[in-house]
Amino acid sequence: MKIIVLSINPYKEKDGIVRAISENESLTFLARGIKDPKSKNAALNNVLTIADIELMDGNFVHPILKSSKPLFSPLKVDMDAKYLASLMTIDEMMLNLFPEDEQQVMFEKLEKAVNSLKTTNDWLMTLLQFMAHTVKMGGFQLEVNQCVLCGATKNIVTFSFSDGGFICESCYQPEMEKDLTKEQMILLRKIVNCPDYRLKSSDYKNEDFLLLFGKFSQYIEEAFGYHFKNMRLLIDSK
Ligand SMILES: [Zn+2]
Repeated sequence: MKIIVLSINPYKEKDGIVRAISENESLTFLARGIKDPKSKNAALNNVLTIADIELMDGNFVHPILKSSKPLFSPLKVDMDAKYLASLMTIDEMMLNLFPEDEQQVMFEKLEKAVNSLKTTNDWLMTLLQFMAHTVKMGGFQLEVNQCVLCGATKNIVTFSFSDGGFICESCYQPEMEKDLTKEQMILLRKIVNCPDYRLKSSDYKNEDFLLLFGKFSQYIEEAFGYHFKNMRLLIDSK
């Protein structure tokens, strides 16, 4: 069974209780020796590791890890602060924005996100796309293909996060948000409509990306009722 590790809680001296998702379910299991660097299960001691595992029932409240074969490690030689903070933020979103029994809906998007982040090191783009997927899977889809209020596809004048999408000229009210440029709205549309992680932040203006990143973070905090803890590491550090 292919799994992605979401958290590891120490148990006894060298064991760990691992929370993970597979394509179909969210699971918890005991991994013996996971804290021992020499253990064949040691690779699982990093969140967002992808592995092929086998579980067995034993004399414990959770199933017990029988064997594991690492398929992907988020660790690499040249990890900078932003790379690590991005991994932490992705994992934080997985653990806090979805109920435990629904986290598996993100399996495919999460697998692609960690792969994309490791290959491209484009933390801003990977996180923005992951956030867009999270918003969608969490049931807070933003309307970027027509006016969210009347369905018109022409004369779009603004994007309102509080209304959940594009607003056309006839639906626009003076009290609505109107702080994105046309370029930023087009970029937002691309991010929301992109099915994977193929956009590159180098193709766009960095300040547009950072602005949308801030907007998305705020939208997620309000929609999911959650306060990000690792975000400061991304915005403040160079
Ligand atoms: Zn309208």
